[in-house]
Amino acid sequence: KMTKPADSRLVLLGNPGVGKSECTYRHTTMVDDENVSMEILDTAGKGESIHQEGNINWGEGFLLVYSTTDRESFEDIVNLHQHIASVKKTQNFSCVLVGNKNDLTHERKVGQEEAEQLAVDLSCCFFECSACDGGEAVDESFKELHRDVVRRRMVNSMRR
Ligand code: GDP
Ligand code: MG
Repeated sequence: KMTKPADSRLVLLGNPGVGKSECTYRHTTMVDDENVSMEILDTAGKGESIHQEGNINWGEGFLLVYSTTDRESFEDIVNLHQHIASVKKTQNFSCVLVGNKNDLTHERKVGQEEAEQLAVDLSCCFFECSACDGGEAVDESFKELHRDVVRRRMVNSMRR
């Protein structure tokens, strides 16, 4: 049986422990009244995988995930973004910035405002979420990334 290719290929990136899970999965959901399928690749953190370049080449959109309780994971996002740009050979790629674990209010090390500023610098959307709380914001970050992938695809095809 032939499987229809996913409508977008999304990749989770971020330091170990920030709250990604461990598999590639297909996620079907409604985005702007359309039923879309996203293929989502979960990856190991930097230095954990030698396959990262393959993952980045494969992906069309990237969730840059840090933990609101882990400053280093936030500071490493800039390097992650640069790394994707160097693999993709362009700054023009889809990504969203995701600060996870915001349920751990007493362990917060990264402010919301500085993360919003980083998102401005990277020209992307920003979401804070908790993977534990049922993940409504997680879902919204995937949808927004999907929208950006589709938007960028359309713009790039008109350029050609
Ligand atoms: P990964 O290395 O990025 O894949 O991180 P994991 O998904 O393995 O998560 C690392 C740890 O953080 C696990 O113990 C998770 O249960 C925990 N975790 C993940 N997301 C959250 C969250 O939103 N809130 C809290 N409190 N813990 C989380
Ligand atoms: Mg993991």
